[in-house]
Amino acid sequence: MAESTAGNQPIVARGAIARTPGQPATIEEFTIDAPGPGEALVRILASGVCHTDLSAKNGVFGTEGFPFLLGHEGAGVVEQVGEGVENVTPGDHVILAWRAPCGQCRFCAAGQPHLCAASLNAEKRMRTMQGETLTPVLGIGTFCTHTLVHAKQCIPYDAALPPEQMSLIGCGVMTGVGAALYTAGVRPGSSVAVFGCGGVGDSVIQGAKLAGATKIIAVDVDPKKLEWAKEFGATDVVNASESDPVEQIKALTDGYGVNYAFEAVGRPDTTLQAILSRDLAGTCVMIGVAGPTATLDQLPLGKFFDLGGSLRVSWYGDCLPTRDFPLLATWYEQGRLDLDRVVTRTISLDEVEEGFHAMERGETLRSVITF
Ligand SMILES: [Zn+2]
Ligand SMILES: [Zn+2]
Repeated sequence: MAESTAGNQPIVARGAIARTPGQPATIEEFTIDAPGPGEALVRILASGVCHTDLSAKNGVFGTEGFPFLLGHEGAGVVEQVGEGVENVTPGDHVILAWRAPCGQCRFCAAGQPHLCAASLNAEKRMRTMQGETLTPVLGIGTFCTHTLVHAKQCIPYDAALPPEQMSLIGCGVMTGVGAALYTAGVRPGSSVAVFGCGGVGDSVIQGAKLAGATKIIAVDVDPKKLEWAKEFGATDVVNASESDPVEQIKALTDGYGVNYAFEAVGRPDTTLQAILSRDLAGTCVMIGVAGPTATLDQLPLGKFFDLGGSLRVSWYGDCLPTRDFPLLATWYEQGRLDLDRVVTRTISLDEVEEGFHAMERGETLRSVITF
């Protein structure tokens, strides 16, 4: 068992805190208690700016969690561990996971830890200087110099690998690659369409390629994004602003449609297009998180029945971080998974709002904050 190195004094960290829905985050100092049993204090090295942080900041997940400590896609170094921590020791470089199976819930007990219904988190013991309890986004909080997590959320990686690229495995890249490998189970020789070619969509493309798909059709409205998609392995591109993407996908597949259609935008119209662009018995995978009020009221049920197949929701790519983070890091090392190109730019913590704006303007696959 690792020896506890926890001190008793809270440490002072610095991070991006969202206090009011829709308002810019503020960069503030905050305090973190020493790690309790099973917990780890992590010094952040790099954090990707994911769309979910923007949603949290804008109050899409409700107003109850405010103030939020933003960020959930991070890599760092373990600085202290609490009592009973055995999986990491201080000095370990780790990617942070927002799924840490509890081992005891009904899904874990049934051998489906990727569906864990009681994922482990540290207790909420990070506070603003005014004493308000912070809610770390997805139980992590990575737009900050340090954070407190459950030690089981820490997945070690080789310290020789770059933290900027490794941080992306913690959310966006895993979500996309996992959607192809696990949620869809893309088979060799199959055809795929990906709606929305941002950081997640391009990771679906990479996952489909790794799984052996031979036709990978990228769909977007931005010519720049379609060019990038080709660099990640798309064999064909469809600009949905020029003509009906369903018709274009059919034209590229002998009139049949694709075996797997992925929706990585989170909109009703693109979801419907993804459903209708499938071949018989095809699978549609929903990845993009639609707003709470979005509904799909134009789905012709008869058509859905004609095609058969399935509609699946991918949550974190159905991944198991202990199994999949080391796999993705190894594929990166072997040159089979391109993470360098996903890191469009690196920024400082103080530039986080600019990172959100660049994402909203569609200029980046990922801005990565470095410390
Ligand atoms: Zn569980
Ligand atoms: Zn994310």
